[in-house]
Amino acid sequence: MASIAVIGGGVVGCAAAAWLIADGHTVTVFERAIDERPASGGNAGLIALPEITPLARPGILGSVPGWLLDPLGPLSLRPRDLPRLLPFLMRFVSASRAQHVEESTSALAALMGSALVDHQELARRAGLSGHMQRTGALHIIDGPAAYQTARNEWTERRRHGVEVNEIAPEAARRLVPALAGRFTNAVFVPDYWMVSSPAAILEALRLRVAAAGTLSRSDVVTIHRDEREVSVITAEGGDLPFDRVVVTAGVWSRDLVRDIGLKVCLEAERGYNITFAGNPIGLTLPVVFAQFGIAITPLADGLRIGGAVELASPEAPPNFMRAEAMRRTLRRYLPALPETGGSEWMGRRPATPDSLPVIGRDPRDPRIVFAFGHGHLGLTLSAVTARHVAALVAGQGDETLSPFGIERFQ
Ligand SMILES: Cc1cc2nc3c(=O)[nH]c(=O)nc-3n(C[C@H](O)[C@H](O)[C@H](O)COP(=O)(O)OP(=O)(O)OC[C@H]3O[C@@H](n4cnc5c(N)ncnc54)[C@H](O)[C@@H]3O)c2cc1C
Repeated sequence: MASIAVIGGGVVGCAAAAWLIADGHTVTVFERAIDERPASGGNAGLIALPEITPLARPGILGSVPGWLLDPLGPLSLRPRDLPRLLPFLMRFVSASRAQHVEESTSALAALMGSALVDHQELARRAGLSGHMQRTGALHIIDGPAAYQTARNEWTERRRHGVEVNEIAPEAARRLVPALAGRFTNAVFVPDYWMVSSPAAILEALRLRVAAAGTLSRSDVVTIHRDEREVSVITAEGGDLPFDRVVVTAGVWSRDLVRDIGLKVCLEAERGYNITFAGNPIGLTLPVVFAQFGIAITPLADGLRIGGAVELASPEAPPNFMRAEAMRRTLRRYLPALPETGGSEWMGRRPATPDSLPVIGRDPRDPRIVFAFGHGHLGLTLSAVTARHVAALVAGQGDETLSPFGIERFQ
């Protein structure tokens, strides 16, 4: 059995740690901001099994200029960030070519194939129960252009076995009576699951790590390696040797990776949400407005409306006007949604331009394993990633992982 450092205690790191602990390894998770709420603690709570299509698609490119001109639209960036973001944007454009999209969709579908079973196994290993349920999700579409985009996407997903049921707007209103505004189309997709509380799950996983391994409140500045050992250097002065190091530091993984001489294209796709106490509109299942990049979920934490993609530095101050813009948009369809109030939050999705996470070994040093860049699907893919990390640590490989290697950025 090995001693393993896991750098980053978000849901990906803690799921991997819990899996490795159950395999009998000695695991230390390094987390520098235990008291803050990372993306893993504040997300929409969807185990979004049907979402196997990448963000970069031929259809999406036409919408991008309009979105970028609208500072509060579903996708935004500040002009001054443009030079820094150029490599990401260029790769995003190249990833939206039909051939590339088809390959990425197949890769994500293959990874997603065991996501649910792996969540069930992770729950068993970490001692969690009753924290997720199959709710399905209602997708609301408004207008012919959005309908055409949605149809193309669902056709693609159906080809990979996703069940999609188009229903009339009146039938959608019977499912969600609060949808009093006008819209043109609705789709019910049964295979969405929802967790009760992303924050509570992250906390439970961290408690599991603290109880059966070590949860260290430390800031890792770099990884040092030589022939004998690989060690973790912390800002607190630690120089700690391990048999294996797993990098799960969300968007900040890019600094650790570059420090050991590898390239990666990873940016923060920042998202926003507002959480209302209780469930003021009596929602019983998640509702997704994909054309606006917004989802609304009735969590144990409260009713959460969230989404948006803001390409910006992780540390730049949040712009909560974006959360307000989402509230205004949703009130057109859900007029009973509170006009004021609710608590606002911003989180950083660790995003690659091709929407594929990085899961694999350092090609030059198998003692280092990467698991980051899960974008919009970090909660969804946390358990399957954990299983693959455990296999990689054990020296095993899996064909499913070849599209996810860091090699694609070298
Ligand atoms: C608005 C919004 C809604 C979302 N909804 C969903 C959803 O419904 N379903 C879904 O599947 N996904 C969703 N996501 C995406 C999901 O939240 C992320 O993909 C996921 O949380 C990423 O997890 P992570 O562990 O990789 O990164 P993070 O949650 O960012 O965790 C990384 C951790 O590493 C720590 N760290 C970083 N560097 C260091 C270092 N050097 N030393 C020590 N610690 C370090 C950080 O402090 C942080 O706690 C959503 C995201 C947002 C923003």
